[in-house]
Amino acid sequence: MMRIDKVLANLGYGSRKEVKKLLKTGVVRVDGEPVKDAKIHVDPDEQSISVFGEEIEYKEFVYLMMNKPRGLLSATEDEYAETVIDVLEPEDAVFTPFPVGRLDKDTEGLLILTNDGQLAHHLTSPKHHVPKTYYAEISGVVDESDVTAFSTGVTLEDGYETKPGELVILDTGPTSFIELTITEGKYHQVKRMFEAVGKKVKYLKRLSMGSLKLDESLNPGEYRELTDEEIDLLK
Ligand code: URA
Repeated sequence: MMRIDKVLANLGYGSRKEVKKLLKTGVVRVDGEPVKDAKIHVDPDEQSISVFGEEIEYKEFVYLMMNKPRGLLSATEDEYAETVIDVLEPEDAVFTPFPVGRLDKDTEGLLILTNDGQLAHHLTSPKHHVPKTYYAEISGVVDESDVTAFSTGVTLEDGYETKPGELVILDTGPTSFIELTITEGKYHQVKRMFEAVGKKVKYLKRLSMGSLKLDESLNPGEYRELTDEEIDLLK
């Protein structure tokens, strides 16, 4: 059970104060009966709640999958640059989601946005070793010696020894095409792992997080809600 003013505020009907005023006008009905008292407790899963005669669907959490484009910051707000939150539709932004982990400004691909702090913690906590797979284009010839080096871990320029990563070479040449799976999320980790073996990441895209894969039908900058099955994959 939850207070009716909290339910409505969570759904973006305004602040608790604004919602209180709205309730007073008698436009909110619970199971058909007008409810004017902000303190009334309701069960949004069991009871029908309507505002201005329209039934509302209550949800506490929102889970979005974005194909992050280059150029957006993985942050909730920034004084100068546009963030992944700035581009959300108002009906999604009311839930105040935040990005789960960070992708660099010039990195594309799978970014989960949610207001479910517990799930976000589960996905980003170093304790849980959630694997993340990246596709990258690398300046230079990536070869088996890099696969071997990554499989035991490499030493970054600040002395940090990474956990093992699984490097798959898709094609090699002056520019190499690879996939790399790592279970950590240190700052610029993929770029720094390649720097550790003398190579430079030219393009980076996250393909998956845990068992959840980027929906490739999303163009960079597009996003959609996760399905219930996809949310379960993350838990
Ligand atoms: N590793 C990086 O270097 N950058 C990212 O955005 C993600 C992983």
